[in-house]
Amino acid sequence: MSGIDDLPPLREVIAAHGLSAKKSLGQNFLLDLNLTSKIARTAGDLTGADVLEVGPGPGGLTRGLLASGARRVVAVEKDARCLPALAEVAAAYPGRLEVLNEDALALDPLAHLTPPIKVVANLPYNVGTELLVRWLTSESWPPYWQSLTLMFQREVAERIVAQPGSKTYGRLAVLAQWRTEARIAMQLPPGAFTPPPKVSSAVVHLTALPAPRFEADAKVLQEVVARAFNQRRKMLRAALRRLGPDIEDRLKDAGITPTQRAEEIGLEQFCALARAVATRTS
Ligand code: SAM
Repeated sequence: MSGIDDLPPLREVIAAHGLSAKKSLGQNFLLDLNLTSKIARTAGDLTGADVLEVGPGPGGLTRGLLASGARRVVAVEKDARCLPALAEVAAAYPGRLEVLNEDALALDPLAHLTPPIKVVANLPYNVGTELLVRWLTSESWPPYWQSLTLMFQREVAERIVAQPGSKTYGRLAVLAQWRTEARIAMQLPPGAFTPPPKVSSAVVHLTALPAPRFEADAKVLQEVVARAFNQRRKMLRAALRRLGPDIEDRLKDAGITPTQRAEEIGLEQFCALARAVATRTS
């Protein structure tokens, strides 16, 4: 018994199934079920929702989500060694856990989940940022998910909520704040994980806005912002040169002085720039 359910403690699960952590899969496990339940509660009321969990591993967060009343959890895990442990969790919560032995980057979520959908994950660090950018830049909006509750390295979490003018302000801040309300919900020291990672972590909660804060095409905005911050010390007219010979005019159309640098530009201006660039190329 573990306190939140009738299943064995996670240390026993890991020992019984030989789940030694693999660095290549970003495996840093959460073994404290009170903590995983707390993370699950950060996602809000789960009782009427399907939850997509990426990388359940031995199932600590999965159990937190199920014990917190999630209607259904679809858990996508690349490491087949975890499947027997997850099958035990599925048996303890009949009909509420579906485990997919897949790469989350290749998943078609709507083939498995029914709205309303919340995404909750202690993400593998190696794919976390890529998944987040994909979730934020879907062609249509609102997306299939209502909210994302995600564990990141603390430094990445800070980049998501950063404001213009700060060192951490960049692509992630612009994309996240464009279409979501984002906040850091919880900080965790390395010792919360087994094995402990080198850096601290944080849970970020992002709620999808009904519509983006400012109009822009997701692909164009993503490209503009990626180029602008790839060379963040350069003036924008130089950093964005590849976007076309008339980039200085497009910057001016958006109310940006071509000698400004990316970190001085707010979300509204980046969206105006994306619109100016899109109008020119359409
Ligand atoms: N959720 C568990 C926990 O909190 O203890 C494990 C978290 S661990 C940081 C990340 C998990 O993601 C690992 O179980 C790893 O095998 C899995 N993983 C890594 N890359 C993946 C991918 N591309 N698709 C699905 N799962 C992946």
